[in-house]
Amino acid sequence: MKVIKNRKKIKRILKGSKSLSFIPTMGSLHNGHISLIKKAKRDKNKIIVSIFVNPKQFKNNRDYKSYPRNIYKDLNLLKKHKIDFVFLPSIKDIYSYKTKNKIYLNKFSKTLCGKYRPGHFEGVIDVVNRLVEIINPKKIYLGKKDFQQLILIKKHFSKNNIKIKIIECNTYRDSFGLAESSRNKSLSDNQLDIARKVAKILKKNKIIIKRNFGNYKLNNLKRQIKSLGLNKIEYLKLLNLKTLKYPKINEKFNIFIAYYLGKTRLIDNV
Ligand code: AMP
Repeated sequence: MKVIKNRKKIKRILKGSKSLSFIPTMGSLHNGHISLIKKAKRDKNKIIVSIFVNPKQFKNNRDYKSYPRNIYKDLNLLKKHKIDFVFLPSIKDIYSYKTKNKIYLNKFSKTLCGKYRPGHFEGVIDVVNRLVEIINPKKIYLGKKDFQQLILIKKHFSKNNIKIKIIECNTYRDSFGLAESSRNKSLSDNQLDIARKVAKILKKNKIIIKRNFGNYKLNNLKRQIKSLGLNKIEYLKLLNLKTLKYPKINEKFNIFIAYYLGKTRLIDNV
């Protein structure tokens, strides 16, 4: 496993590699990330994982600083999974060069997380665009857990005619149904228990909504979740994954949620 910290060096090393599979991460790796790695391993491409906590996508310096980091453990894990290349750029490596592509932020950025985190998706698109310009992969593996991010990256690629195949990966959940997330590490035992209950309620209510579409009151669900004792539900919405709009009767949909447990903000879609 080659660990490379410098932009120019990685460009030099990757120059001859034609079929790279790329997995961008912010580190503090968990089974969700590993599920992306396992999926990427199914084809014979060389795999490159980046670890970069992107300051541009955080609301403020405190959030950025408090994001969980564990580089030593991450590198051991990646080594165990026989990753070919790990890219650990500095902020300067990423942001000190002029990009070819212009950031395209589709209007889908205005809802869900984008509504509550101004500037967040600009930061996400900017960093992913810069990483792919440096790495030039054939495929990129992205999780459906961050569905809005996935769609916005897709739209950016399509607008800029970036020919990288996006591989959409299912959300990996623990045995209680909770989506794995680096932020779960910031939860107390009690908060973790609540988060698992939220996941369970969402799954159960999706079935009930399907049966009673039209009569179902999303406010009931909100009340049920709030009664678990969490601080704040930022949003709770139904979306058709294709139209990206509120679903019509008999259309497939997911329930999207963002909520706070203490200072920790969690998202999921079920
Ligand atoms: P992050 O390190 O949180 O920026 O995530 C890096 C990539 O892993 C993104 O494409 C995420 O959508 C994906 N990811 C994060 N959590 C999960 C999960 N529980 N299951 C599947 N993919 C995930």
